[in-house]
Amino acid sequence: MRDIKELMRPSAAVLEPYDPKFTPVEINLSANENCYAPVDIHDKVMRELELTPMNRYPQPLAPRLRKHIAALYRATPEQVIVGNGGDELIFNLFLAFGGGGAKIVNCPPTFSIYRLYAELCECTVVDVPRDPKTFALDEPALLAQAADARMTIVTTPNNPTGTLTGLDFIEKLCAAAEGLVLVDEAYLEFADAPSAAKLLDRFPNLIVLRTFSKAFGLAGCRVGYVLASPAVIDALAAVRQPYSVNVLSQIAAETVLKQLPRVQELVAEIVEQRAFLSEELSKFDELTVWPSAANFLLVRVPHAHRVWETLRDEHSILVRDFSSTPGLEGCLRITVGRPEENVAVVEAFMDILALAEDWEDE
Ligand code: PMP
Repeated sequence: MRDIKELMRPSAAVLEPYDPKFTPVEINLSANENCYAPVDIHDKVMRELELTPMNRYPQPLAPRLRKHIAALYRATPEQVIVGNGGDELIFNLFLAFGGGGAKIVNCPPTFSIYRLYAELCECTVVDVPRDPKTFALDEPALLAQAADARMTIVTTPNNPTGTLTGLDFIEKLCAAAEGLVLVDEAYLEFADAPSAAKLLDRFPNLIVLRTFSKAFGLAGCRVGYVLASPAVIDALAAVRQPYSVNVLSQIAAETVLKQLPRVQELVAEIVEQRAFLSEELSKFDELTVWPSAANFLLVRVPHAHRVWETLRDEHSILVRDFSSTPGLEGCLRITVGRPEENVAVVEAFMDILALAEDWEDE
């Protein structure tokens, strides 16, 4: 029998299984989830779940949820498709539109899944790096590369840098690109900015990705959605696994959508806490804190990896270590938590930075 790796698709054989490195800690600020988990919303979801039969397959395109989402954006249901988290939709975009070396334009540092899934689907990824200091897009280079690309990806606010991209540039990009433009708005609820969805009627190549995992607090249920022209939605519908969004998740997403004002209240609290955390962390001379339009902050700190380890081991706080990612040397990403969690982060940094004065340079 041949070696299993030799039997694999070459683009898959080079991959390692995904490991989010979750460690049991008291304060988990590593995955940009919504840390609030309000009991009132949870109770409403649980009541609906109890009434949901589980012996039947789900409706593949989640028509009720789809209609509700469409109404939010003044779009038609034919412009909406749901998926098992945004991740599945990103994968399906490459499955439907990639392959055969198709050119995908990516703007690192950004969400690593794009490159991973694009390469798995045998696309060629061309990077247009962001400014190393501000993380702003290199707009002229991006417009030039997008012209002949199959798909160009812009994340706004960007993960992990928090950088926002204006709609005026998205418009230019859609006009300049002969292929598709994916605008990933997974964190847009935390930004004071309009969705690119309002450009959908003008640009049939525009794809907007959103998720219930962040502001809506349903990361565990795995529901995301795409808004795009009906032709793009049809392509995604053709390649998807029909039952990827289960009945329980569909109901959970519908129920939280009905609680929109309550969700917006929580988002406002998170935005306030982001200002608090950013202001407090900026007081440390050793830290660089970037402005963020999302529910996390990117910070640069000397001895970043050791700081990350000490936060985890001595303070039971887990953040995300990006210090070995190109362009993010010395950087940690901290999800904005509940007030007491953010205070704990600030106090932990106070302790650790005092210790770090004696650490040798790495
Ligand atoms: N886009 C970005 C930029 C993200 O950070 C994430 C989650 N980390 C996603 C999409 C996908 O989120 P989910 O699969 O939970 O919907």
